[in-house]
Amino acid sequence: MPISQGQVDALNAKYKNAAPQAVIKGILTEDFPGQVSLVSSFGTESAVLLHMAAEVDKAIDVVFINTGKLFGETIRYKNKLEERLGLSNVRAVMPKPALLDQNDPKGVLWSQNADRCCYTRKVEPMQRALKNVNVWISGRKGFHGGERSSLPLFELVEGRIKVNPLANWAKPDLDQYFEQYALPQHPLVEDGYLSVGCMPCTTPVADGEDVRAGRWRGADKTECGIHMPAGQPGRRSILPPRRQVA
Ligand code: SF4
Repeated sequence: MPISQGQVDALNAKYKNAAPQAVIKGILTEDFPGQVSLVSSFGTESAVLLHMAAEVDKAIDVVFINTGKLFGETIRYKNKLEERLGLSNVRAVMPKPALLDQNDPKGVLWSQNADRCCYTRKVEPMQRALKNVNVWISGRKGFHGGERSSLPLFELVEGRIKVNPLANWAKPDLDQYFEQYALPQHPLVEDGYLSVGCMPCTTPVADGEDVRAGRWRGADKTECGIHMPAGQPGRRSILPPRRQVA
């Protein structure tokens, strides 16, 4: 049955004052048992959400989009967290080879058309990974700014319920959680990377800069597109592939 905005509104009301841990436990055990996926970049803040989910269900379906352009440090960090948290169901989803051949045969599309590169390497794999998923958890936070500034806990996006348990958490909350549970940091944090995406499109940030200032630095782009509805107008809308590849 299609998910309605009314259902989403009811969830926002139900969990209005709930802590992120209570939101995660509630949706995994009461509201949608066995139906929830968690999408993680295994970036600098990802350990918090992954730890919260693992505390409830270590077999939760975790989707990791491996664009083929990630830092080696991110892959190694993913492996480390998987083992440390006991996550048993991490799905690494790669771009379609045929779509890569068509859109990015030389692997330099990021420097020519970042939106198309993100479509090929992130958005299409994500759409495929979530094809049969009705509810998914995202790690977005309001303090990241931009489109993320006024995040609701629950959203209806392209027919799915998207849950943002950390929507209202700030950086000190995350730091405290890392400390409380002795979670390992992404290895690039010590080099000044506060947010980590693909290697060609990420730089360290200077003191006082926004967390995501190092993503697509110098370009009019702040999101890869996996958090934006398809067809949404504006600079950050996602371009379709030139022709469909089966
Ligand atoms: S972040 Fe950069 S390399 Fe990664 S998919 Fe987007 S444009 Fe391509």
